Amino acid sequence: MTVIHWFRRDLRLTDNTAFNAAVRESGGDVLPLFILDSALLAGKDVAPARVQFMLESLRELDANLKKHGSRLVVVRGKPQEIFTKLLTELKPTTVYWNRDYTPTARHRDAQIAELLTANGCEPKSHKDQVMWEEDELLTGTKKPYTVFTPYKKSWLARTGTVSADRFSDYALKAPAKVEGEIAIPSAKDLGFTLNQKGPKGGEAEAQRLLKAFAESEHLDRYNTDRDFPGLEGTSRLSPHLRFGTVSPRVCYEMAAKNVNYVIPSRQSLTPQSTDPNKAGGDSWISELIWREFYMQVLYHFPHADKGNFNKTYDAVQWGNGSEAKDKALFQAWCEGKTGFPIVDAAMRQLNQSAWMHNRCRMIVASFLTKDLLIDWRLGEHYFMQKLVDGDPASNNGGWQWAASTGTDAQPYFRVFNPILQSQRFDPKGDYIRQWVPELARVSEEYIHEPWNMPPMLQLTTNCVVGKTYPARIVDHAVQKDKAIAMFKAAK
Ligand code: FAD
Repeated sequence: MTVIHWFRRDLRLTDNTAFNAAVRESGGDVLPLFILDSALLAGKDVAPARVQFMLESLRELDANLKKHGSRLVVVRGKPQEIFTKLLTELKPTTVYWNRDYTPTARHRDAQIAELLTANGCEPKSHKDQVMWEEDELLTGTKKPYTVFTPYKKSWLARTGTVSADRFSDYALKAPAKVEGEIAIPSAKDLGFTLNQKGPKGGEAEAQRLLKAFAESEHLDRYNTDRDFPGLEGTSRLSPHLRFGTVSPRVCYEMAAKNVNYVIPSRQSLTPQSTDPNKAGGDSWISELIWREFYMQVLYHFPHADKGNFNKTYDAVQWGNGSEAKDKALFQAWCEGKTGFPIVDAAMRQLNQSAWMHNRCRMIVASFLTKDLLIDWRLGEHYFMQKLVDGDPASNNGGWQWAASTGTDAQPYFRVFNPILQSQRFDPKGDYIRQWVPELARVSEEYIHEPWNMPPMLQLTTNCVVGKTYPARIVDHAVQKDKAIAMFKAAK
């Protein structure tokens, strides 16, 4: 009897729900499969940095499987065609996988399940990527949640009962050689050029980051530090949660242990941290919940994948009345040359490191949509092409939140002021100086508004606005009024 486990966004052995089930139910006769999906690799949202992270994680997964007498079988092509061949070649009884919730993945999985069933092979999918999925958390009237706070309450009330499955007693049979099997390629072999230095992939690195975050003061201080991009105040686990090199259950367990959660009772609904100094763990868990909130939003409202969640805003007339102007503004934003230091620092962090701090993601998304009046979908797409953690649900949710078109979003009349945001969250300008070398010698007094520097000082600091550092491409006060008018007109 051969069964297949199809790895997708679960590139780990620890606490892998479907893989554990496949091993237990087959007695170890499981073929670990990964398909380099040619359609996804050629897709418009593909990011070289994500491909690199994924390949690195696959190499480690393969090495870990080898320690248990097995290996990762890697093939390249379309899942439908690959499974058609494998059905004849291996005659598997069962194919296991962990469920994925994006509209594209659900469509693919439904087709594969149909193909397998028609050929006498059982598809067995498991919940793994989230604590609560599909219809497990619904409102009192059995509707999906569209507001975060009640969703969070309901999530926490059930989650006290969840724990990780650290089964690792694998005695795996060596898988058969499969036709078309390839060695794990490099990003270059796949035709990608890497011009970002992204983070390291793999399960060991995820465990290291999690341990370091749990054992440092960062978790305890998370509720205050997480908003300051100049601090190492967040976990940096997002690409790992994206590719499943760590499970959400392991993350939750770590944080819940840290805050000493009292397992919630059905009556109280909200867990109480026993230690008021440990509010960091509480707020970190909230972020894990945002991740699932956006996944369930996309699951229940697939129209949000390409369109406004709130259809009222379909009538918004994005843009500045000139295609050429919009193009130039968008280009300046992409390159981090807007003349607004915090926006430029953030975009350069993204372009160079494939990651951006959450506070800055909110600032640049607000800037693109409310200062440059450019459709959020362009920014969302650019992020997907650059982010190592690019995730359809969180990215879409984050963009629609900032653009005020999403569920539980920022109201359209609340427009971030990029200068105030910069003064508040990067008070000394350390983050700006790190990413914008033109501003390296500018003092705290002018770092947020270099255009106010006296001309002589501009010369001595080597930051001549309009020459060595870009002049502001828009006037925030003017654009803010235009943005509000644009939304009002749509309503
Ligand atoms: P931590 O602060 O340590 O948080 C722990 C984990 O919780 C993260 O790794 C992530 O999985 C999850 N998380 C944290 N904040 C959020 C949030 N606001 N929404 C959903 N999940 C969250 N996150 C992505 O993983 N992929 C994306 O493509 C993505 N795009 C975004 C786009 C915009 C415009 C905005 C405003 C936010 C986006 N986020 C995205 C959410 C957030 O910015 C990142 O998850 C976070 O910065 C990752 O850093 P970290 O791992 O250090 O997070």
